[in-house]
Amino acid sequence: MHQCDVLIVGGGPAGSSCAWRLRHSGLRIAILDRQHFPRDKVCGGWITPAVLDELAIDPAEYACGRVLQPITGFRTSCIGGSMVETRYGMPISYGIRRYEFDDYLLKRSGAALYEGKALRQLDRSDGDWVINGQIRTRMVIGAGGTFCPVARFLGAKVNREAVVTAQEAELVMDERQLAVCTIRAEVPELYFCSDLKGYGWCFRKQNVLNVGLGRLDPHALSRHITEFVHYLRASGRLSPDISPVLVGHAYALYGHTSRQIAGDGVLLIGDAAGLAYAQSGEGIRPAIESGLLAAKVVVAAQGCYSQERLEAYRDLLVERFGQADSHWLTRLSQRVPSGLVSLIGRRLMATEWFCREVVLNRWFLRQHEPVPCMT
Ligand SMILES: Cc1cc2nc3c(=O)[nH]c(=O)nc-3n(C[C@H](O)[C@H](O)[C@H](O)COP(=O)(O)OP(=O)(O)OC[C@H]3O[C@@H](n4cnc5c(N)ncnc54)[C@H](O)[C@@H]3O)c2cc1C
Repeated sequence: MHQCDVLIVGGGPAGSSCAWRLRHSGLRIAILDRQHFPRDKVCGGWITPAVLDELAIDPAEYACGRVLQPITGFRTSCIGGSMVETRYGMPISYGIRRYEFDDYLLKRSGAALYEGKALRQLDRSDGDWVINGQIRTRMVIGAGGTFCPVARFLGAKVNREAVVTAQEAELVMDERQLAVCTIRAEVPELYFCSDLKGYGWCFRKQNVLNVGLGRLDPHALSRHITEFVHYLRASGRLSPDISPVLVGHAYALYGHTSRQIAGDGVLLIGDAAGLAYAQSGEGIRPAIESGLLAAKVVVAAQGCYSQERLEAYRDLLVERFGQADSHWLTRLSQRVPSGLVSLIGRRLMATEWFCREVVLNRWFLRQHEPVPCMT
């Protein structure tokens, strides 16, 4: 039987950030992941600078041998509509590859690693947890993404929640494809569905092209994807010899799930807790921040991991992300007919002010928020 004090299930950004913050706590930390790293993760790979700041990552050091694409502006439109370009004149985001980023975070976390091992069994024994009959621990942190088995253990109805469903493809372009690629690396393009229930993107990170589309409404996703890829081809953004094979995943948005996130000796972080930002779908930063906040609560609990003590984590999440509320779009679509939403959406997305101030500054870059204290 292996022993540790805190076992983190899932070595994505949430799990590895939590372990990283706990590395000097004196606690024995281990991460269990069903995959061997480096591994791919379905994702656009867009991050905001806060992610690097909060994890004390030096961009120059990270960029040695890895993709770190500075983003200094965005081009936005409704699919098929005219593009509005918003420039910032400095990096306001970065593009990374999850294959590299997650591996980097995991290796620097300082945790003992159990890779290629899925959590199959979770039992309670004398106040401890026993994982797969092989690892005994006082505290389990569920960081296994949307379908995290620890979240299921806490009663999450993972297939009955409103989620974003999204698909993406990431391809390395050869010299010729790169030469004809019209997407500028420092200016990704975002294409909103006219009902504003989702958006697609074309995102070049050095010689890597990431194409995808995500929607709040899962029903006709494949039709939307087909139409979107057709549009990219017709508009010359996707050269005929690139055939992206899009892979899908789903994740819950903050305020859209009622998952229990704390129990006796257990917490959920990242997608397992359903924390992605509702407006942009950004999930990496909330995953990292929740991992850091969970670590803070674990340290403060001083070995007493009762649900009562761990509920402090919920308070920290509310302090950081606000009260869970229904999505503005859900409220809007309850009051305004969908045809009118489309009409207003198309008009607004064609104005420079709306694209800069609302879509980018507010929804994507969250510039209205005070800088959170993550220490
Ligand atoms: C198409 C798409 C595009 C996206 N684009 C962006 C973007 O550009 N920017 C952004 O910020 N967010 C984006 N997101 C959201 C982002 O990917 C997630 O919010 C983020 O990965 C959450 O991190 P996490 O650590 O909670 O979970 P994950 O990254 O999903 O990591 C979970 C880990 O748990 C492991 N695991 C799962 N089950 C088990 C098990 N039974 N036992 C052991 N280990 C297990 C997995 O192998 C995995 O390594 C996108 C999502 C999708 C679907």
